[in-house]
Amino acid sequence: MNLADKVAIVTGSGRGIGKAIALKLAAAGANVVINDVGDPAVADGVAAEIKALGRQSLAITADVSSPAEVTAMIDKTLAAFGKVDILVNNAGITRDQLLLRMSDDDWDKVLTIDLKSVFLCTRAVLRPMLKARWGRIISLSSIVGIVGNAGQANYSSAKAGIIGFTRSIAKEVASRGITANAVAPGFIDTEMTRRLTEEQRQTASKQIPVGYLGSPDDVATAIVFLASEEARYITGQVLNVDGGLAGAWM
Ligand code: NAP
Repeated sequence: MNLADKVAIVTGSGRGIGKAIALKLAAAGANVVINDVGDPAVADGVAAEIKALGRQSLAITADVSSPAEVTAMIDKTLAAFGKVDILVNNAGITRDQLLLRMSDDDWDKVLTIDLKSVFLCTRAVLRPMLKARWGRIISLSSIVGIVGNAGQANYSSAKAGIIGFTRSIAKEVASRGITANAVAPGFIDTEMTRRLTEEQRQTASKQIPVGYLGSPDDVATAIVFLASEEARYITGQVLNVDGGLAGAWM
């Protein structure tokens, strides 16, 4: 896959799956904007790794659930690179709790950071993509957005929402050279899943048909493909990257 001269924004790319996506897009030739919300040194570190690959990179601290911060992030990207070709909506959080114990804040935080952010970032990049008549919008859903999961009513609602959003905007922009797809990972070995107990991880591994947790690179590989010119005829789809888990759960 050749992404030479493409400009990509990967939200939540200071660590985990987002970092792997940013590095793989850069390895394929793209210049990449790194975003996260915490310590700026973390995003700067990923940007330095990308520059070491011979690509350009910019680290932007921004809360993707804030309309003003998203607008500023896209403006900075356009000022630095003049365009946005690829948006990867990756930033996300969990606040797991059984429904009777789930607070309003647990619900609002997850829906705002995991779903509203996808609307905000996508809307903000759409105008430059429409002008260029080329674009790739790829959003991180989850298999729990397809099959559901006890203790994750907030998270699975957000991730299911991403699928509806993706299928709708895919139809809105299909005639303009822009594709929109979702990737639905299963259990991937990152800080998000390291919060599970060892017992929960063992149980998960046993349920996964291939027998092990996925790596961030497994997800990143699928995203580089969907970002490529070769994937131009694929839009409005959900690609599970889950070692067969969703099929086993359904
Ligand atoms: P992770 O290790 O927890 O990393 C999440 C990233 O998102 C961090 O860089 C974090 O930045 C950033 N972030 C959080 N809130 C943000 C905000 N408001 N604005 C900007 N950035 C923000 O998560 P991950 O496991 O790599 O997951 C990445 C994506 O894949 C998420 O959407 C997740 O739901 C999805 N996913 C993961 C799995 C899995 O098994 N890991 C499975 C299915 C789907 P800071 O470090 O600065 O907080």
